Amino acid sequence: MEENCIFCKIVNGDFGTDFILENDYAVVFNDINPKTPVHILVVPKTHVASLNELDDKNLLGELMMTVKQAAKKVGLSSYKTLINTGKEAGQEVFHLHIHIMGDKN
Ligand code: AMP
Ligand code: ZN
Repeated sequence: MEENCIFCKIVNGDFGTDFILENDYAVVFNDINPKTPVHILVVPKTHVASLNELDDKNLLGELMMTVKQAAKKVGLSSYKTLINTGKEAGQEVFHLHIHIMGDKN
């Protein structure tokens, strides 16, 4: 848990966020400012600032499996995934997350 990290606080349950899915590695919840009709975020439970700081191959695999499970759970069979890495690329929250974006579910 990193102080002042909004996603650590969400993972910790501080805001009572509804999780679409939770497992040992990640939580999944709705993006607060959806850019597509369905826009959800897969967030690791451990604090990793960005993909550049991730060196745990097992966690990476678990996150991608969670993407697949979460998409299925919200009824998306067709969707885009996005990881913004670094400020210039548009990363705003420095706790790794994978966007899942779909047009309908
Ligand atoms: P990124 O630009 O890749 O860092 O994406 C950050 C995403 O987190 C944006 O799409 C925001 O809308 C979303 N976001 C920021 N704060 C929250 C929050 N408290 N709950 C849900 N989503 C959030
Ligand atoms: Zn964090």
